[in-house]
Amino acid sequence: MSIRIRNIRGRLTLWYVVIFGLLFAAYICSACFLQYWQLKQQLYHAEVQDMETVQGLLYFTADGRVSLHEEYFNRPESRLLLDRLLEVLDSNGHVLFRNRKLDGNTLGGRLLPDEGVNGFTPRSLRLADGTPVLVISHAHVLQETPVLIRLAYSTEPLRLQSLQLLGLLTLVLPIALIAAGFAGYRFVIRVLDPLEQMAGLTERITARRLNERIPVKNPEDELGHMALVLNGLLERLQESFEQLQRFTSDVSHELRTPLAAVRSVGEVGLQEEHDAEKYRDIIGSMLEEVAKLTAMIDTLLTIAHAESGAIQLQQTTFALMDLVQEGVAVVGVLAEDKKQTLSVTGDQGALVCADRAFLRMALVNLLDNAVKYSPSGSTIRISLQPGSTSPGPPEFVELAIQDEGPGIPEAARQRVFDRFYRLDEARTRDSGGFGLGLPIAKWAVEAHGGNIDVKAALPAGAIFCIKLPTVQLL
Ligand code: ADP
Repeated sequence: MSIRIRNIRGRLTLWYVVIFGLLFAAYICSACFLQYWQLKQQLYHAEVQDMETVQGLLYFTADGRVSLHEEYFNRPESRLLLDRLLEVLDSNGHVLFRNRKLDGNTLGGRLLPDEGVNGFTPRSLRLADGTPVLVISHAHVLQETPVLIRLAYSTEPLRLQSLQLLGLLTLVLPIALIAAGFAGYRFVIRVLDPLEQMAGLTERITARRLNERIPVKNPEDELGHMALVLNGLLERLQESFEQLQRFTSDVSHELRTPLAAVRSVGEVGLQEEHDAEKYRDIIGSMLEEVAKLTAMIDTLLTIAHAESGAIQLQQTTFALMDLVQEGVAVVGVLAEDKKQTLSVTGDQGALVCADRAFLRMALVNLLDNAVKYSPSGSTIRISLQPGSTSPGPPEFVELAIQDEGPGIPEAARQRVFDRFYRLDEARTRDSGGFGLGLPIAKWAVEAHGGNIDVKAALPAGAIFCIKLPTVQLL
């Protein structure tokens, strides 16, 4: 049967109690074992001392038996003396002496090879009646006769003493476990308290209250770190939410103008009777507005796709100059209308690995702007230069598009890459811009690991620069 505790507090406390219990049990066992071992060591030393005493008290009687001086028994103040078990054997293993306490039992049986020859040989064994004893054997020369003396004490009292200690500590165990469980539970509650607070606060946060933040008590600890991470998440959510709100209101605002234009053209058309030619004109201009709307919605969809990360780039390696030529061909007609010159110079062979369609879109947007915002008869210079930040082969290729238009004031150079940002509303609306060309160009360039910026051209105009990583063919 498995017990499932659902909350972390319970689980942590249980773990704590189990681990504490195991450690405590291990401690009890080792303490008892250590105590038993130490007592046995003490017993061994007592036996060695006693062996030396016994050697002085043994003697051969006139009839060749071995005996112990009697006065020895008249000093029974030592418990050890009374409990002593003693056996003396000759070199053939015949028993020469056994004290009364042994009650006819042997103390270790037959002689062992080299028993007691080198010092005091200790051995633990059980007597015939089951008593556990610690025997030490020692070879001794008694009145010029070599004998082996075996001396032992029962280890039963030591075992009982250790068992007593074990019993005592085991009695303490449940009390210790209850105390540990209680302390552990309180500790876990204290530790998890900030987590509860965080959960409560996070629950209260709604789309309208995204500006609320979780208080960070100690940024150094795990919970503080978590609060920081959650705050970061809230920050990003708030930013995205605000961006979305701005985007929605921008889009609705932008859609209103062309829709109003379609509506007013339609209304004018319906006000009175017209000939077929006039109706064709009216429908034509309505379709023009609808085409603009479609283009804008397409661009918005591309931006939305790009920002959600749903676009998969189809990368191939090609010479950037080829793409520039393609772009120039696209805007060439518009430039011709305005009698503008498009001059292209630079490295023909610089290669990039990119999604051709998206990079082309970025390039055409920039070229289209240059044509749109430059005066008639001006020159638009497009140059392509490889570059590097360190000696060696080129790391990037820089594409610069320079026009002779009004340029972009320094204060607006960052913002022109924001959606729907236009410098001169009236002028750009006339020229058909929605303020979406540069944001999409920026996305396309950055998606390829490049960057885009704008600076002022001299004496007038703007220079849009795109830097893209270049590739070398081996
Ligand atoms: P639009 O479709 O309005 O051109 P963009 O995102 O391409 O939108 O450009 C944003 C704004 O930046 C434009 O409305 C225009 O005011 C300004 N701009 C872009 N390119 C140029 C340029 N080459 N010269 C002067 N202003 C420019």
